[in-house]
Amino acid sequence: MPRVFVITGPSGVGKGTLIKLLRERVPELELSVSATTRDPRPGEHDGVDYHFLSDEEFERRVAAGEFVEHAAYSGRRYGTLRSDLERRTSAGHPVVLEIELQGARQVRRTLPEAVQIFIAPPSGDALRTRLIGRGTEPPEQVESRLHVAEDELKAEHEFAHRVVNDRLEDAVERLVALVRAELS
Ligand code: ADP
Ligand code: 5GP
Repeated sequence: MPRVFVITGPSGVGKGTLIKLLRERVPELELSVSATTRDPRPGEHDGVDYHFLSDEEFERRVAAGEFVEHAAYSGRRYGTLRSDLERRTSAGHPVVLEIELQGARQVRRTLPEAVQIFIAPPSGDALRTRLIGRGTEPPEQVESRLHVAEDELKAEHEFAHRVVNDRLEDAVERLVALVRAELS
């Protein structure tokens, strides 16, 4: 089975930014499109950024066993659809999952061969600055996400691989080296 990479880290640390650059440099790597019950941000498209589902539809899919993992995060639900992941791996592509901590823990049990990578911020202040600077969440959401981040950062030691996203280019290079080493 092609390699599965799990990339975790607090909201605003730069996971999305790093994965986009990683995929430009490792083009065979595909990103699994998750399902969520949160609203699309401006510029996000259904089926591209996420499969945007109602609470009822998400729950129906949980009950039908359609998720590899799923979790509640900051009042919304998120999950990896087995169908999306398997479509990519059965076509022979290595896949990256960009998921939060509870999901990464579930994947550690169900897909123990997946390569787990934690992205850490250079400091708590940098994380706050990035999350505010992204400008996608209202202030109360920013605070909620930073609160969750305190616990997420304590779980860093659970991960086989850790990349500090301080200078973006350094972090991308480390990530590319790590992924290429696992693929070769
Ligand atoms: P995540 O996907 O982890 O929530 P994003 O990729 O959306 O995080 O990044 C959050 C914000 O931080 C974005 O505005 C992004 O441009 C910025 N960012 C990402 N990496 C760095 C970095 N190394 N230095 C400074 N800003 C960064
Ligand atoms: P955002 O709302 O910023 O897109 O995502 C919020 C958090 O949910 C991020 O930490 C992101 O990694 C995580 N997330 C995105 N998709 C999934 C998923 O399929 N499963 C889990 N467990 N977390 C996800």
